[in-house]
Amino acid sequence: MNPSYDYDVIVVGTGPGGCSAALEAASMEKRVAVVEQKGCIGGVSIHKGTITSKLLRQSVLSLSLARQSLLLPMSPSTPSPGLDMTHLLSQVEAVISTDSEAVMWKLGRSGVPIIFGQATFVDPHTMIVTSDFDTQYITAEAFILSPGSSPFRPPSIPFDGHFVFDSNDILSLKSIPRSLIVVGGGVIGLEYANMFAALGVETTLIDRDPELLDFVDREIMEILCQSMSALGITFRLGAVVESVSKDDNHQVTAHLAGGENVPSEGILFCVGRYGNTKKLKLDKAGIHVDKRGLIPHDGSFRTSAPHIFAVGDVVGFPSLSSTAMVQGRIAARSLFEKEATLKFPHVPHALFTIPEISMIGSTERDVTSQKISYEVGRAHFYDTATGHMLQDSQGMIKLVFRPDTLEILGVHIIGSTAAEIIHMGQAVMELGGTLEYFTETVLNYPTLAGFYRQAALDGLKMLER
Ligand SMILES: Cc1cc2nc3c(=O)[nH]c(=O)nc-3n(C[C@H](O)[C@H](O)[C@H](O)COP(=O)(O)OP(=O)(O)OC[C@H]3O[C@@H](n4cnc5c(N)ncnc54)[C@H](O)[C@@H]3O)c2cc1C
Repeated sequence: MNPSYDYDVIVVGTGPGGCSAALEAASMEKRVAVVEQKGCIGGVSIHKGTITSKLLRQSVLSLSLARQSLLLPMSPSTPSPGLDMTHLLSQVEAVISTDSEAVMWKLGRSGVPIIFGQATFVDPHTMIVTSDFDTQYITAEAFILSPGSSPFRPPSIPFDGHFVFDSNDILSLKSIPRSLIVVGGGVIGLEYANMFAALGVETTLIDRDPELLDFVDREIMEILCQSMSALGITFRLGAVVESVSKDDNHQVTAHLAGGENVPSEGILFCVGRYGNTKKLKLDKAGIHVDKRGLIPHDGSFRTSAPHIFAVGDVVGFPSLSSTAMVQGRIAARSLFEKEATLKFPHVPHALFTIPEISMIGSTERDVTSQKISYEVGRAHFYDTATGHMLQDSQGMIKLVFRPDTLEILGVHIIGSTAAEIIHMGQAVMELGGTLEYFTETVLNYPTLAGFYRQAALDGLKMLER
């Protein structure tokens, strides 16, 4: 590398994308520094997204269980008694600071300096880093950008962080509203709608599309929507919120196209995200972003400037912590070794709704549109001892497979620990396994993994018909 630069590589952002890139570069003994504009380490992933929302969900689930054991009704008209949102969030905050410190410690242990301040390109190899305390110029031969994304705020909506929220400021909620409208039925909107409904909040989910999450298996989605309705969530699909008004009685009203009004005590917008690229002044490095602020790349995360890589939310779909981590490592390896790619390219998705959902590979809809012949094997949790033990009557696992070779094309799960048990299906699928792996092997009993065998046996039975 060129010693006239301060660093071999500068990484922007300490979210999962930036940290994994920096740690990978450090493991190759490169001179690497990370720049972070916030006073804390870990990005949206730790502070406003992945970890925060999962901790909150965990607390909500524990509370719901406690309410059930006290035989308190789980209905929208009975918000959790004495529940203090500030207390709930302070518990979350404690875990978050531990996680953030752990990331900081890992960077320190690997000899990666953290430069606090906002990074802006001055020229293709120089950045100015500005903080409240100083301004410094730093140079590098290469850059890996992982500045993340922010919630999109429609300009006509009066966001105030008290009654009208985005997915960041909902985390500063002081008390639980009796009712909440969630606008946007994407992953984040659905997760929050479920959490608030489980707290007893009268929740309405509004989405402009008549069909939610079209990448999820339709049968699984139907079960989720039934569960959400049972939690008390009202769906308003195919409805567009045109404006929001607030009155003096702490009431907000969503005005829908067509003239209908939906009143509530709060409204949360989860209507997409845009890349945090404005402050980076990427044009100074010869990079142009799209209209959502996302950075185009060549498929291996190399931008139009060959010495600059971009990873994580700023490159768009699937915008997950899980993928950002892997992309960061790939970018660092591509920079310093040979062009790297992912050996096992299927990405698992998890939705931490109630119940949770996870999936990998093709849906029935995918294989139908690709004219691939397929069969399906299912196992319902209510059919098994494990399901009874978990009191999970809605859970289901569904395997989509080729009838001729029994090769697994997709795994779709709804129910307890779906996000964990998907990985067994993922491993078998990615390693080219067939249904036989599940039928011809011994699995611990009683376990959720046993559902795979049931689904595989069901699939084989379907073939006999
Ligand atoms: C509510 C919610 C729930 C989610 N749940 C999940 C989940 O369950 N599973 C999952 O895998 N993903 C989940 N995600 C998505 C996940 O949080 C993101 O995909 C992930 O954080 C992206 O990582 P990143 O490294 O791209 O960016 P981030 O984590 O956003 O980190 C970017 C960092 O860059 C810094 N930065 C930005 N610009 C500059 C600059 N100019 N100078 C210096 N620093 C800068 C920022 O301050 C920030 O710290 C969730 C997201 C949300 C909002």
